[in-house]
Amino acid sequence: MGKLRARLISFMYGRYGVDQLYYGMLVLSLVIMVINAFVRFFVLDLLVWAILVLMIFRTFSRNIYKRRLENQRFLKFWRPVKSKFSITFARIKEFRTKRYRKCSHCKAMLRLPRKTGKHVVNCPRCHRDFDVRVLW
Ligand SMILES: [Zn+2]
Repeated sequence: MGKLRARLISFMYGRYGVDQLYYGMLVLSLVIMVINAFVRFFVLDLLVWAILVLMIFRTFSRNIYKRRLENQRFLKFWRPVKSKFSITFARIKEFRTKRYRKCSHCKAMLRLPRKTGKHVVNCPRCHRDFDVRVLW
């Protein structure tokens, strides 16, 4: 077992390996597979294979610089999507106790206690006041 591990480590030496884009592609291919289980469209099959081949290619690639750039481009797109998702999820989860409002000056998302009525809120980021209305 130790010998196999050592061989794997020496094989992976200088190769790129796994990153966030890898997991993103994995999830994307799984989603396409699930969709394709219903629609059964051969182009989607090809797409899944193409993604899997690309994933393997990227993992064993020796051009680490280029793979890193690809990952950065992916993260640039993915981070805002992810934060939007997590805010939406938190909004639902804390619906009974908290309200989420955007600061009208700096657009920061603020998590406020749920108090109905009109309030003046001081933004902790830009330190300016703005009005908030919580109806329910
Ligand atoms: Zn602000």
